[in-house]
Amino acid sequence: MKSFGLDIWGDDNFIIQDDTINVNHASKPSLISITQEIREKGYKGPLLLRFPHLIEKQISTLFNTFNKAQKEFNYKGEFQAVFPLKVNQFPNFVHALMEVSQNYNYGLEAGSKAELIIAMTQTPLGAPITVNGFKDKEMISLCFIAAKMGHNITITIEGLGELETIIHVNQEFNNDIETPISPKIGVRIRLHSSGIGIWAKSGGYSSKFGLTSTELLEAYEMLKKNDLLDSLWMIHFHIGSQMGDIAPLKKALREAGNIYADLKNRGATALGAINIGGGLAVEYSQHPHNQERNYSLKEFANDVIYLMQEISKRKGVEEPSIFTESGRFIAASHSVLVAPVLELFSQEYNEKGLRLKEVNPPLIQELYDLFNSLKRENAREYLHDALDHMESLLTLFDLGYIDLEDRSNTEILVNLIIKKSISLLKDEDTDELNKLQDRIQEKYLVNFSAFQSLPDFWGLAQHFPVMPLDKLDIKPTNPASIWDITCDSDGEIGFNRDLPLYLHDIDVSKEEYFLAFFLTGAYQEVLGMKHNLFTHPTEAVITFDEDGKYQIEDLIEAQNLMDVLDDLDYDTNIMDKTLKYRIEESDLLGKEEKRDLLGKLYLYLSENSYLKTIQAIDEEH
Ligand SMILES: *Cc1c(COP(=O)(O)O)cnc(C)c1O
Repeated sequence: MKSFGLDIWGDDNFIIQDDTINVNHASKPSLISITQEIREKGYKGPLLLRFPHLIEKQISTLFNTFNKAQKEFNYKGEFQAVFPLKVNQFPNFVHALMEVSQNYNYGLEAGSKAELIIAMTQTPLGAPITVNGFKDKEMISLCFIAAKMGHNITITIEGLGELETIIHVNQEFNNDIETPISPKIGVRIRLHSSGIGIWAKSGGYSSKFGLTSTELLEAYEMLKKNDLLDSLWMIHFHIGSQMGDIAPLKKALREAGNIYADLKNRGATALGAINIGGGLAVEYSQHPHNQERNYSLKEFANDVIYLMQEISKRKGVEEPSIFTESGRFIAASHSVLVAPVLELFSQEYNEKGLRLKEVNPPLIQELYDLFNSLKRENAREYLHDALDHMESLLTLFDLGYIDLEDRSNTEILVNLIIKKSISLLKDEDTDELNKLQDRIQEKYLVNFSAFQSLPDFWGLAQHFPVMPLDKLDIKPTNPASIWDITCDSDGEIGFNRDLPLYLHDIDVSKEEYFLAFFLTGAYQEVLGMKHNLFTHPTEAVITFDEDGKYQIEDLIEAQNLMDVLDDLDYDTNIMDKTLKYRIEESDLLGKEEKRDLLGKLYLYLSENSYLKTIQAIDEEH
């Protein structure tokens, strides 16, 4: 697997050239050259690289695919889209998103007051804003303020209580006003059909959100009675995220389409849009037998347009405008997490570690001979002999007949024999070999926190494509498991025989080796937690100038130690004074040494939690 499944998950965004993985855009720079340029500026630890051109690609693909389907079916309704902020609210992302989407009248979706403030400040007037989720009077009032500013805002009713508040707030804001202005109103419907997958709770009868048919009829009456029926213009549903199968979407579309048509025919004449929420899946798989999505964007768009057209025709209503709130699809590919490998943990099992004696116990001598005469023809037999000898030698140790050095020699030799046999017998994919492979996997200690940067791996076992930045001309042979630097055993991406990851055998005291995790742009950043107080990594935006050369912009360094503690509401002034006092007042230290220690301490406090290097040979010395 030299390409690490790039053709499955890569979507032509990256390309392998010679021995490196490169951005497949403009001058096609390698990720390792970008990484090294940033590290040379003094930023160590993990790096989050953002690529705005990949956001632009997703937005234009989404719009172009839907526009094509509209044309093909001669569909009269419009196509519009908003980005659901919960997927990524980080300013470097949102700024890039708004900049690259200027030609699409693209808007934002907000699910909380803070997100609504982002939407009200980042969306140009006229671009759509949708507001979902539970709302109180203050949040609804903010929507009215946005409408009065001139924003094109739609507030989605999730329950009848909310509608009552809207009616109340409307009176408060628009009573005695000559030209009353209020937000447009949408209703979220509670689908009969439910979503699938781990996020299924978003749809279906037991879902947290949405109105049942009985409640819909009641809402209709309430809007009519309060002169707000003219504001009701959108039907909304969301069946859940990372929808692997298209079938539930089709069911939901039929339900929503018929509700739209019935309400419209009943008298909700302003109704003009169906908002199909998110759910468009991203292919995260690195292995052909494990793909996550069974449809293309084209099929998705055609289904939406075709079904809405069919229902509208049958019920004699105008074709609704289509809104999507796809988030994962827009954001996932834009960021790459690059993390340095700090150490390989089975390096102690190399030949250099052997401490053979002048006279060794006979079984150890025999292991040594087996190792040296191992060939393809005898590999299976010698392997079995070695495993057998190991059992005997470990028993001898327990009984006190051989010493610790002998035991260490046993472990090293058997490990080397297993490794060599596996590479000799590579094409014989037997169960025994596979099981042995689990035993000799190399543990790569990587300078990042899975809790901070891949929380969905921790919480949902979501796979993220991972590969090294260079050496791609060499076949990697180490079955690898990845350890992060938290002291939590859940921060490990174990070797999985069904979805194996192989990495290169390297000596990190001699050369750098970086791993990149891809498709981390959706959900991971804000869901990331500061477990062990590892914070959001240093991030940079990579843009391309007219000549195709890349530029590193908007570098934001990971928080320093005192800022992290300040976030937890520690009084860092007191902490600072305590540290200083304990050095200055110490009886153990001379004047000069105190000054030196204070200097060092302040340097360390200005840095972030991630490790610089744990190798004895530090490149800086
Ligand atoms: C989360 C959410 C989305 C985004 O879903 P994706 O699967 O990321 O596209 C869209 N709409 C609503 C209402 C949501 O809650």
